[in-house]
Amino acid sequence: AVYMDYNAGAPIREDARAALTAALGVGNASSVHAFGRAARRIVEDARGDVAALVGGDPEGVIFTSGATEANNLALKGSGCRRVLVSAIEHPSVLEVDGDCERIAVDGEGVVDLNILARMLDDDDTPAMVCVMAANNETGVLQPLREIARLAHDAGALVHCDAVQAVGKVALDMAELGVDTMSLSAHKIGGPQGAGALLLAAGGRIDAEIRGGAQEKGFRAGTENVAAIAGFGAAARAVRFDAREMARVKALRDDLERRVRAICSDVRIFSAAAERLANTSCLTMPDVVAQTQVMAFDLAGIALSAGAACASGKVRPSHVLGAMGASSRDASCALRVSLGYGSTARDIDRFIDAWGVLYTRMHNTAATANP
Ligand code: PMP
Repeated sequence: AVYMDYNAGAPIREDARAALTAALGVGNASSVHAFGRAARRIVEDARGDVAALVGGDPEGVIFTSGATEANNLALKGSGCRRVLVSAIEHPSVLEVDGDCERIAVDGEGVVDLNILARMLDDDDTPAMVCVMAANNETGVLQPLREIARLAHDAGALVHCDAVQAVGKVALDMAELGVDTMSLSAHKIGGPQGAGALLLAAGGRIDAEIRGGAQEKGFRAGTENVAAIAGFGAAARAVRFDAREMARVKALRDDLERRVRAICSDVRIFSAAAERLANTSCLTMPDVVAQTQVMAFDLAGIALSAGAACASGKVRPSHVLGAMGASSRDASCALRVSLGYGSTARDIDRFIDAWGVLYTRMHNTAATANP
């Protein structure tokens, strides 16, 4: 089978599997005895590895059950009464605060800095600005440094969901100037159900999950030592590798070129903006995405219609909607996302299947509407 859905979840790395298995069933990391100390060492080593991945402070790493929990914690625990979020955030940001204000994006999906500046000027309530580093559907990258500068000049905090960007572009928390950042293990080849919220040096947050004093009191509950071990190992393995990303980009660009050679009407979202090298969000004109996903699945190729979290619902993507895409284009958008296991052979298989489906659907349409 051909796996082209890395943005939904990357296959687990062998290093991560080994670390996870070895850490299963060790002691409770809060226990004082030797078993507890062994577990504590595993958790603290992973904390260092996760922090190092994004130039963060190990003291600021709060392990969570995933990026959904980390995003919830960042937004609810900041103490800010006003929350400004980009219109293309993941649902784990958009659904947290019913009163959040949306920052508009342009046709490529990039946050409009003038609009953000005006929103910050309009009101001096302590605010949190929340913008993702890279979008999960289109891969579009955001001008985070400028966003952080605008926000800080206005006395606001900045939260960044870096789930999709980490390992694919160079990311440094201090250099970007963000106050909090979310990560997810399973997007980088670690296990599902592990993630982290990183606080900039000296940062604080109000706990959402209360109980014991684990994670410095910021997140109660016995640490999931095995999952954290797998997360740490994945973080060590993924360190941004420009050469690997150049390889993946060549595959993605080849795919897009060959699709366009079959049909010049294909629309590729965010292609004119800076975007992740592994992601392509593209339409097959007049073929609804669910039909495409099923046809590719039958051909042994795994990919998604827009975001996996939105799949199953027929509602077109809020991301493409915010970019002003017509519902006709948005309903035909497929997301291809590549990664470390992707090969040139995978692209050949995809192009074959894409061509067969395109021809079949368009010939059928021609006979149905003579
Ligand atoms: N943010 C983004 C951008 C994502 O793509 C995802 C995963 N779909 C999440 C947050 C949620 O991460 P998790 O699955 O770890 O809860």
